[in-house]
Amino acid sequence: MCAERVENLSKELRQEGYRFTRQRQLILEEVRKLKCHPRARDIYDAVKQRMPNVSLGTVYRSLGILADLGLIRKLEYDDSSRFDANLSDHYHLICADCDQLFDVDTSVLERLNTQGLEANGFDVNGHKLELYGLCPNCNQEKQGIAGESQRLSV
Ligand SMILES: [Zn+2]
Ligand SMILES: [Zn+2]
Repeated sequence: MCAERVENLSKELRQEGYRFTRQRQLILEEVRKLKCHPRARDIYDAVKQRMPNVSLGTVYRSLGILADLGLIRKLEYDDSSRFDANLSDHYHLICADCDQLFDVDTSVLERLNTQGLEANGFDVNGHKLELYGLCPNCNQEKQGIAGESQRLSV
């Protein structure tokens, strides 16, 4: 399955007139591995372990190409872009403490009711939802601290 994927990628890149370089393959692999929606810097650090000569510029360019080809998704944020290898429909939860991005199933929003808008002549063809809060790890940590201070005050 992995070999097949790589083969497809090679063909896709060639069709688009891009050279299928080992660098691009590695970069794609790392984005798929890092499920935390890494920034270009994080991907660069990971790729560098396996390919010490890679430059940050190459990583940036390659990420742009992979995103253009639809092999990864580029998520734009105020401070920097993040990359997502999960191409299925999903939302994101941003943890306020650790700054990680988590995938959230679209079932959290059962059905978006746009009937009213469409009745008024709008044509709705997409939507975006972003959730903010704490991830299970950070939440547990916070609960732990709260519990401790409660015990101390008793
Ligand atoms: Zn967190
Ligand atoms: Zn995602």
